[in-house]
Amino acid sequence: MELVFATNNAHKLEEVRAILGDRITVKSLSDIGFSADLPETTGTIPGNALQKARTVFEHTGLPCFADDTGLEIEALDGNPGVDSAHFAGPERDAQANMNLVLQQLSGDANRSARFLTVIAYVCQEGEFLFEGEVKGHIALQPAGSGGFGYDPIFIPEGYSESFANLDASVKNQISHRARATAVFSSWLIQKHDI
Ligand code: IMP
Repeated sequence: MELVFATNNAHKLEEVRAILGDRITVKSLSDIGFSADLPETTGTIPGNALQKARTVFEHTGLPCFADDTGLEIEALDGNPGVDSAHFAGPERDAQANMNLVLQQLSGDANRSARFLTVIAYVCQEGEFLFEGEVKGHIALQPAGSGGFGYDPIFIPEGYSESFANLDASVKNQISHRARATAVFSSWLIQKHDI
């Protein structure tokens, strides 16, 4: 079967293709020649994932999935959440975003956090949502140079190193995105008997 992933992010495509395997062909937006803007204006993570998948399905009629991710910090009432990419401003500067998190959390003993990914799948049969999370806590200071975004300040549960210091293969096994994709993959395989 063939699905569109509403992204042109090469890293995400590679990760998702590896999990979905050979039985499911994943096309990117550029593979299908889709270049319109994808709005993300709902104010929630599931809402934005659904909005992106719906937009592509409505324009193309092709079964499509989209993902949306946020870092939710307990002591910050779930922020940065849906605003993770641009927490410190429209420049989407990962360093500034991390600095703002550390500043807002300074002196707080509760550093519990999680990454949440929601995948929305829109097809002829309807709309379906899948979730993956990784729990952990926010470090006192950034460490490591791997990964991206908030990786240097996020320490996943069961580990003492930040995502940025862990091997990419470890992160790819336990990450929010990998877990959401695995749930989606199992559902597709069962639903379509593939
Ligand atoms: P997106 O919805 O996948 O584009 O993610 C939104 C924002 O969440 C990104 O711009 C990053 O700031 C953050 N983010 C998402 N996934 C990760 C991750 O695996 N590690 C660190 N930060 C992430």
